[in-house]
Formats: sequence, C-alpha cells, structure tokens
Amino acid sequence: MVDMREGLFGGDPKVLSGAGMCVVALLFCALAAGGWQLVRAARRAREESERKTTFIDNLSHELKMPLAVVRMKVERLLAGKVDGDERLQAAYRTIADENGEVIRQIDALLELVRTGKGTRRYTRTTFDLAAAVRDSATAMAGRFPPDCLTVSGCEEPVFVHADADAVRQIVRNLLDNAAKYAADKGPVEVGTGRADGRVVVTVADRGDGIPPDQRESIFERFYRIDNDLTRTTGGTGIGLSLARCFARDMGGDVTVAARPGGGSIFTLELPEERNG
Ligand code: ADP
Repeated sequence: MVDMREGLFGGDPKVLSGAGMCVVALLFCALAAGGWQLVRAARRAREESERKTTFIDNLSHELKMPLAVVRMKVERLLAGKVDGDERLQAAYRTIADENGEVIRQIDALLELVRTGKGTRRYTRTTFDLAAAVRDSATAMAGRFPPDCLTVSGCEEPVFVHADADAVRQIVRNLLDNAAKYAADKGPVEVGTGRADGRVVVTVADRGDGIPPDQRESIFERFYRIDNDLTRTTGGTGIGLSLARCFARDMGGDVTVAARPGGGSIFTLELPEERNG
C-alpha cells in the first residue's frame, strides 16, 4: 500500500515536502476563509437583530406620540376646556392629523410585510408624474419652514405607467425625509425631468448629506444613520427601503448622491410612458 504521507511529506514522513507545505497552506487558508465567513455571518445576524429591536422601540415611540396627543386633546374637549369655534376646529384638525399619522405608520408596516412576502399588488395606470409631484409638494408644504420648499420643472407633463399610490408614497417619503433631516439647513428643491427614456424626480437638500459608505445601507430595512440628527428625529428606518422596493418593482429605482456644495440629491426614476 502507498503511504499517503510519502506524497505529502516526501521520503522522510517527518519532513514536509514543497507540495505538502502547499496543501497545508491551502487547508489553512480554506479554514481561515471559512472562519472569516462565519464571523461575518454572525456579525450580520447580530446587527440585524439589534436593528429589529431598535425598530420596535422606534415604532412604539412613533405610535405612542400621536396617540398621546389625541388623548390629551380629547380629554381637554371632554372637560369642556376648549371653547370658541376656532379652537375647536384646531383641536379637531390636530386629532385628525395625529390619527392620520398613526394610520400612515400602520400602513407602512403592512406594506413592509407585503413587500417582504412578495404579495404587494400594483395597480398601474398612466398618469402625469409632474402633476403628482406638484400635488405632493403642495400637500406637504406645511412640514417645511416658510419658503423652504421650491418646485421646478414640473410644469411640463411627464407620463408614467405605474401605481399612483406607490409613487405618491415614494415622493412623500423623500419629501418627509428632507423636512425631517435637512429643512433647517437650507432650501429643498424638487424637480421632474426626463433622461434616456426615463422620467426622474429629484429632491435636493442642503442637509449634512449621507456618508459615502452608508449611501446603500440607508435603503436597507430598519437602517438609520447612527448620528445625533437621526437619534433626535423620529423615524423607523423603513421608508427608503419601501421606496426602493416599490420603484424597482415598477421598473425604476431610488438612489442618492452627494449634492455639489453640500447636502443630498435623492432621485426617483421610472420608465417613461410615451403614449400618455
Ligand atoms: P426614517 O426616516 O424613518 O428613519 P428612512 O428609511 O426614510 O427611515 O431613512 C433612513 C435613514 O436615512 C434615516 O434614518 C436618516 O438617517 C437617513 N436619511 C434619509 N434621508 C435623509 C436626508 N435627506 N438627509 C440626511 N439623512 C437622511
């Protein structure tokens, strides 16, 4: 019988030949690479689990805050402490707005579950995206300081064949983020246009921007940048992941780039519908 050690170790079983050393080195490398993969997988699993825990904390906070405001307003109304038509109207408006916020959070959660399972249905129609962007900007203007939000290039119609509801959610998320993370640092500009058979919507702000190594991570579920700004601003980290998922499902994408001079430019692109 051939002594295997002879091949590996050369004539003298105690001395490693060149080939033997190569085999040992390869085995060592394979073990090291396998070990490294295991460590990375374990680290990713730990990060994902930490993100989920933080997400539940954030979500509870995001739901409790508006509910607490509603409760306070209702208690004041019941106690007869709100008098005068104007004050009554303001109280009802606050209750409706805060209630809408709770519904929005729950809707986002349901969307998250549906997109995760691949069961999100898209109802496509052909519509003018520029008009939809103008309407969203008008509806959300109150979230920005006076004269902060400007809309440009949205006069010319640009048609897409897409789910109008999903598109509205994407645009609203980009505007909501600009209001939360950047509006106090300078103007926010929204625009629409065309490029290479695609329709693009841009939301450009003068905020702190997104660090280059996190420009992809912010589109992951539950991911929030770990900085003072995010820590002191409400959010759950699902808005951009949903936005990208919707856009990709409709043949487009959502991306972010650094804005020359400071800030970020978020871009939604969708295939153009030429027969609009
Ligand atoms: P949320 O706003 O609920 O945290 P998103 O998924 O919408 O979740 O955003 C993920 C993260 O990306 C935010 O937590 C924030 O750290 C960062 N981010 C998003 N938009 C901006 C922006 N315009 N400027 C700076 N940071 C932003």
